[in-house]
Amino acid sequence: MELEPNPLTKPHEASPQVGSCTKRQSEVTIARVCSQAGQAMRLNGQAPLRDALDVLREQSELIGLLIEVEPGQVVPMYRIRTYQLLTRAYVKDLFSHKPITAFLRAQHGMNHLRLDAATPIGDAIDAALARDVEYRYDPVIVTRGGVCREVLDVRAMIDHQRCMLADVLDEVDRQRQEAHHASRHDRLTGLPNRTHSLERLQEAANDAEARSKPYALLFLDFDRFKIINDSLGHDAGDQLLTLIARRMMRTLEQFTGQKQDAGRWLAARLGGDEFLVLLENLQDPGEPTHLAQQLIDAMRPPFNVCGHEVTTSPSIGVTTSATSASTVPGTLLRDADAAMYRAKNAGRNRYAVFDQSMHEQSLHRLRLENELRRALDRGEMTMFYQPIVASESGEITGFEALMRWFHPQLGEVSPGTFIPVAEENGMISALGSYALETALHQLADWRREVGNQRPMTMSVNVSKRQIFQPDFIDHLRQTIQQTGINPRDVNLEITESIVSGRSDEIVSVLNRVKAMGIRLSMDDFGTGMSSLTCLHRFPIDVLKIDRSFIKHLEKRTAYTAVVQAIVTLARNLGMSVTVEGVERMEQLAQVQALDCDQIQGYLFSRPVPAADAARLLRYGITLLEQHHAA
Ligand code: C2E
Ligand code: CA
Ligand code: CA
Repeated sequence: MELEPNPLTKPHEASPQVGSCTKRQSEVTIARVCSQAGQAMRLNGQAPLRDALDVLREQSELIGLLIEVEPGQVVPMYRIRTYQLLTRAYVKDLFSHKPITAFLRAQHGMNHLRLDAATPIGDAIDAALARDVEYRYDPVIVTRGGVCREVLDVRAMIDHQRCMLADVLDEVDRQRQEAHHASRHDRLTGLPNRTHSLERLQEAANDAEARSKPYALLFLDFDRFKIINDSLGHDAGDQLLTLIARRMMRTLEQFTGQKQDAGRWLAARLGGDEFLVLLENLQDPGEPTHLAQQLIDAMRPPFNVCGHEVTTSPSIGVTTSATSASTVPGTLLRDADAAMYRAKNAGRNRYAVFDQSMHEQSLHRLRLENELRRALDRGEMTMFYQPIVASESGEITGFEALMRWFHPQLGEVSPGTFIPVAEENGMISALGSYALETALHQLADWRREVGNQRPMTMSVNVSKRQIFQPDFIDHLRQTIQQTGINPRDVNLEITESIVSGRSDEIVSVLNRVKAMGIRLSMDDFGTGMSSLTCLHRFPIDVLKIDRSFIKHLEKRTAYTAVVQAIVTLARNLGMSVTVEGVERMEQLAQVQALDCDQIQGYLFSRPVPAADAARLLRYGITLLEQHHAA
């Protein structure tokens, strides 16, 4: 008995390495399968049957036997069939002494397939199946260099191919899933992202409709996050967000007694410091607010961020499918957002529930947005002008152009209402271009009227989004050329919010604006985030002090000191100062004492239509002079 010992692997356990997955199947030869599926043992055909049985029993992983019928002629015996055959014979103990060949001829005939080891596995399977019409999966003899040494189990071969195919598919699937996962999860915290949460929200909406089970949405915004980010750096900010995410998850697990996988809740990060919680299958109406309170409590203990103790607190907006204006995920999210703002305005670290008044606001806003898209085309927009006067003489030195929207049904919509909507939905670019063109054409007209001696400027408000428009500068240059005005008479008003984020880019755009000779004002100064110290980075000519300061001037002397400090700073930075919102004579006296340059306010004139503004300009009088006269 001649044995060819071999470490054998069960064919179905053959686990091709990842490398084989990338290999095309046709390139894999049966030799390769042999080395994975194991070889057969070679037995002399004259050996007694019982020897063959012993070998098969001992070498339990053997896939078959090669029986040397005559010197040089080998036939395979497939393991299972051989084993059954031999066992039966052995048990009966009738033929155990007979040579194996006695059984071979009877069972297998000599109808075996001989293939070279280099044959691709696919071809081998084709050949084997072509021969094996009854799908008995008879073994194939594998030859190397013409010498038959191995036997191959056809079923193993097919299994192997299936395995490989499955592996390739698994790999493709894994990659697809990975990409899918990445597109739906936040990289930093690993939480689902906006896309994912909107999808789930849609599912929840469908589910709730089908089962009439309400669900709730909690919108979390963390107070003071920006300050932490700015003072401790972005790494610390990132770490804080991760810790917040963990606490959120833990709180939700405790609250529901279920893991996120169970599908009752979802915690997501929408971006920045904004998070979202979806709670489905509400058990009772109080559940969402209880959860909101628990989230607030959970965030109370300080976080350890890069060795610093940091505290932050959420403002939470709560809405439920029962109270929202619609079940469209975007609207629901906006409702929760609106409630969050209510919570923030009410003093932070608390929750607010979306209610009927907000519901109406939400509907109103939807309508507003739709109407706004058509307003320009329908000619509902117009520009009003408010004079800006010299502090000492009271003479008009220019105007600020302010947009007005007169809607046939809604009436006059204030820019405080529609500008933020336009900024959000992108309409601001079209509106801003309209404002710029109209105001500069108006300036050209008035310049012709007053001649070149008197000062006459036009201030136009531009929003952040507008400045980032790629054609902003070109459009500006074109309009100035068309109207033939002096760029020095043009004053663009930007707000402090422009300063935050992408500041290098913004500085470069502003410098290009400056290079054209146009002047820049910092509007609403004192209300935003920009500190006095970063002001010098921006090429600002005029500081407009926000009217909230003026309102308090009379009552609180502390404000006088603040405004005085601002004026001094602006002077040191070579800027001129405009004070906004002067409504009464007493305020005027105080403002004049502050040594500012220009004044703007209802005391002189409200914003008025172009024709009225022209009249003011022509006679050079404002209410101030009338006051003086009185
Ligand atoms: P703003 O740029 O700060 O404009 C000054 C606002 O203060 C105007 O409100 C004006 O009517 C108001 N105002 C002026 N004097 C007084 C006063 O003595 N007392 C009080 N209480 N208010 C005074 P308005 O026209 O409602 O505009 C609101 C905001 O909308 C503007 O604030 C500006 O940020 C924005 N806006 C208006 N038109 C445009 C525009 O064409 N483009 C852009 N991007 N924003 C605009
Ligand atoms: Ca302004
Ligand atoms: Ca202002």
